[in-house]
Parts: sequence; structure tokens; C-alpha cells
Amino acid sequence: MSQAPALPSLPCRTDVLISGAGPTGLALAASLRRLGVDHVLIDRNAGIQPGSKAAAVQPRTLEYLDRIGIGAALVERGKKGRGFCLRDRDRILLRACYDRLDTPHPYMLLASQQTTEELLVRRLVEVGGTVHREHRLMGFSPDFPGVTATVAGPGGMVRALSARYLVGCDGIHSTVRTAAGIAFPGESPEQLFALADVRLAPGRQSAASEDAAFYLSEAGLLLMSPLSDGLHRLVAPVPPGTAAPDAGDVERLLATRGPAGERQRVREVVAASTYRAQERVAERFRAGPVLLAGDAAHTHSPAGAQGMNTGMQDAGNLAWKLHAVLSGAAPGALLDTYHRERQPVAAQLVAFTGQFARIAALADPAAGRRRNALLAAAAATPGITDWLASTLAQLDIAYTSEPDLGVPRPGTRVSPLVVRPNGLHWTLAVPGTPRHGTVASGLGSLAVQYVPSLPTTLLVRPDGYLAAAGVPSDPAAVIERLGQYLPQ
Ligand SMILES: Cc1cc2nc3c(=O)[nH]c(=O)nc-3n(C[C@H](O)[C@H](O)[C@H](O)COP(=O)(O)OP(=O)(O)OC[C@H]3O[C@@H](n4cnc5c(N)ncnc54)[C@H](O)[C@@H]3O)c2cc1C
Repeated sequence: MSQAPALPSLPCRTDVLISGAGPTGLALAASLRRLGVDHVLIDRNAGIQPGSKAAAVQPRTLEYLDRIGIGAALVERGKKGRGFCLRDRDRILLRACYDRLDTPHPYMLLASQQTTEELLVRRLVEVGGTVHREHRLMGFSPDFPGVTATVAGPGGMVRALSARYLVGCDGIHSTVRTAAGIAFPGESPEQLFALADVRLAPGRQSAASEDAAFYLSEAGLLLMSPLSDGLHRLVAPVPPGTAAPDAGDVERLLATRGPAGERQRVREVVAASTYRAQERVAERFRAGPVLLAGDAAHTHSPAGAQGMNTGMQDAGNLAWKLHAVLSGAAPGALLDTYHRERQPVAAQLVAFTGQFARIAALADPAAGRRRNALLAAAAATPGITDWLASTLAQLDIAYTSEPDLGVPRPGTRVSPLVVRPNGLHWTLAVPGTPRHGTVASGLGSLAVQYVPSLPTTLLVRPDGYLAAAGVPSDPAAVIERLGQYLPQ
């Protein structure tokens, strides 16, 4: 008689329960693990799910992934795209190139979401963590000072798990968000999109083969983006009720909306589907011991390749704050700054991508011609394409409303080309001859770095944002006052 398999060892108590092992939950778990925070990561699925999802990783996300130790491996597995361009058939209207961006990763990395998730899982395991697969969060109830969650494991066995904090990284239909009663206001535009990942027959291919290209022709919108493995992704708005596209549909879209001239042939349709995008942002990213991150907190049109990236950066913002609070080095109120910093980023992103999707999908040919003329004129305005590249690369995200007067502003990103990232340590960057050191502090370790080009001493948070400028250059003095440099 064969023995029943051993039950997976789900603890009954943890500091942080993360529900959902998509890119957001995985990035959070890998970060917490590196910081030594006790946590449990569960996912209802048995493994990484196939399907056409995120295809691009932005420079700002790569900078964070460097901190948790998978940036280089992901870059090795991906393909470097140069950026975005807007075209009307063969004519380039506007091109946002990443080449000149102030980052160690001046490219849009084309890598499938599955590859990103696979490397995150591998990293999590390397640093001693795990994913409890086939564990579904059913609900939770308040249990001061945290929650008691109900989790159904393989075979339907239900268990209770007490957690000081519960983080919902469980996607657009988040159980955590619903059970917490957090509203998810927004819109569900009617527009249907057809998506196909295809292998094109050899030929001239697209002139924009290194760019994600939005073709804005009189016949309508067509997005064509190279993928990491020699494939191309095509996305186009289609009438309601349209079925997933086949090779003929894709060739017709290319012929009427894509590059003019040589007809492009589709050798193979690897995946095809239709989808509707929703545009929503959770009203609160924190409700007491419950936090939301990734698609559970915000969702929007995938045009622009921002969603997964934003989720992983939510994780980066939240991880060090959870660590600071749980280690007793910061008050619980620090977690309110997670909402204050990340919710406006999501709201702005949803507004931006929604507006762009509507402008790109204009149906009236005359309005489309005016749009294209305006875009071409905008591209000729100095600074516009660099600004757009930096925005899409997510390098402009800042947690401050202070105007840029050319002095370091707390809440803005510190370029890793200036202050080298050092894992998830805080970094004290002091003007002076380059040398390094690390000092223990209540908030982890404070890495000390001497940077000749700095005008003043900078204190950099573990997620790469500036905590304070003009701080003492004596590490002991900074450690003593670290609490006062936390965001409010
Ligand atoms: C066609 C398409 C193209 C896209 N392209 C891009 C792109 O190029 N760049 C980009 O940044 N984004 C892109 N996105 C968006 C991106 O896919 C999402 O933003 C991303 O998957 C969000 O990650 P997440 O971890 O927050 O949520 P998800 O990936 O949805 O993961 C949620 C996880 O939670 C688990 N779960 C759910 N409920 C429970 C429960 N009750 N208990 C336990 N586990 C649960 C699920 O099994 C899943 O593993 C694209 C999306 C689509 C559809």
C-alpha cells in the first residue's frame, strides 16, 4: 500500500503572510528573506502559469532586482530593446529611446513574465525561502494585532494561520482586497483587444524590430513588439465578439496598419487571445494589518509595459518598511507611508496609460491625422522624447511634491551610477575618495560609501530613494538619528 504524501509544512504563525506568488509576491518574499523577516508565501496554483503576460522589464525595476540579486541573471536571459516608438506606417512620429538614460540598464529588457517569475523563485529558494504552492487564501479575520487567515491546502485541508501583517499580492480579483472591504474604483472600458504572439517569416521584418512600436495608422492602432525569443507580440483593438486572431487576421492587421511595403508573413501563431483592460486603483493600500500590492492594488491597460514593473516596485517600497517596523526600529505608522508613496504612483499610471490608450485608439481618421501631426511636432520639441523615455522607464517616479531646484530632494531616486546599490542596506554616501564599509544599525546595516562627485552627504533608502541630504558624515551619528530620516 502506498503511503499518503507528507503534508506541506505550513507554519501556524508568521510575521508576514503574503498571498500570491506572482512577480509582486515573489519580489516581496525574496526581499523579506534577504532582510531576515519571517514570512510565509502562499499561492493557489501548483506552479508558474503559462500565457501571454508581461514581456518587458523597465530599467527602474532592473535596478531594484539588482538589489535582490537577480538583475544580472534576468538580463542574461532577456533581449535588450531600445525603447518605444510611435509610427504611422513607415514614418516615425516619435521615438523614446532608452540609450541615453542615466541608469546601469539603458534598455527595455524583453523577457517573459514566466522567466522573471522563474528567476525570482530561484532566488527566493537560494536565500532560504519557499513558495507554499496549492495553498489558497480563503479569507481572514482580525486577530489583534494582526489577522488569522484561513488557508485551504492541497486536498482541501483548511488551516488557520496567524500573521502580524497580511499582504495581498493576489492579483486583480484579490481575495485580500475584497475581504478587507477595500474599494477598487475605476472603469472597465468596453474596448476589446486581440493579442497574438507570432513567429514572422524571414524577410525585411519591422524596421522597428528593436523598439516596441505603436502603429497609429488611419486603419487603426497596432502595437508590435519584439519578444525575447525571436517572436513578436501584436495587439490591436477589435470589435466586440471578435475571436482570438489567427495567422490570416494578424497578416491583415500588419498589411493595413503595420509597416508599408513588403508584405509580412506569419509563420506560426504561438499564442492568441482577446482581452479587455480595466483601469482601477484601490482606495487604500493599507487597512491596519492588511496591505495590498501589485495588481491587487492597481490595474490598467498593458500598453506601455508598466503593470508588473509597478507591482515589483510596490514590493521594494514595502519590504524595508515591514522590516523596520517588525524589528522595532520604526513605528507602525511607517507603513502608512507605503500607501502615501505608492498609491499616487498607481493613480498617475492608470490615468496616463488610459489616456494614451484612448488617444492611440482614435477611430475617426481626421482626428487620427491631427493626433499624428501633433505627436510629430511634440517629438521635435527639445527634451520631450528624453522625458518620455525616462517616464516609461519609471526612473522619474518620486515621492515628493517639492519642485526640482537642482538640489537633492528626499523622495527622489538616487542613480545607481552615482551611489552604488548595496543589497537592501541603507547607504550613507559621503563626499570623498572611494572606499566602502558597513556599520550595524537598528534598521539593518548602514553601508558607507565615499563618492568624489557628491556635493553633500546623502542617506539612501534600501529601495534606492533619497532619505535625506546633508546628513552628518559620521555613520554613528546617522544611525543614532535614523528614525528622523524616515518618510512621514
Ligand atoms: C497581455 C498582457 C501583457 C502585459 N504586458 C506587461 C508588460 O510588458 N510589462 C508589465 O510591467 N506588465 C505587463 N502586464 C501586466 C502584468 O502581467 C501584471 O501587472 C502582473 O502579472 C501583476 O503581477 P502580480 O504579482 O501583482 O499579480 P498576478 O501576476 O496576477 O499574480 C497573482 C498571484 O496570486 C495568486 N492568487 C490569487 N488568488 C489567490 C488566493 N486566494 N490564494 C492564494 N493565491 C492566490 C495567483 O495564483 C497568482 O499567482 C501585461 C498583462 C497582460 C495581460
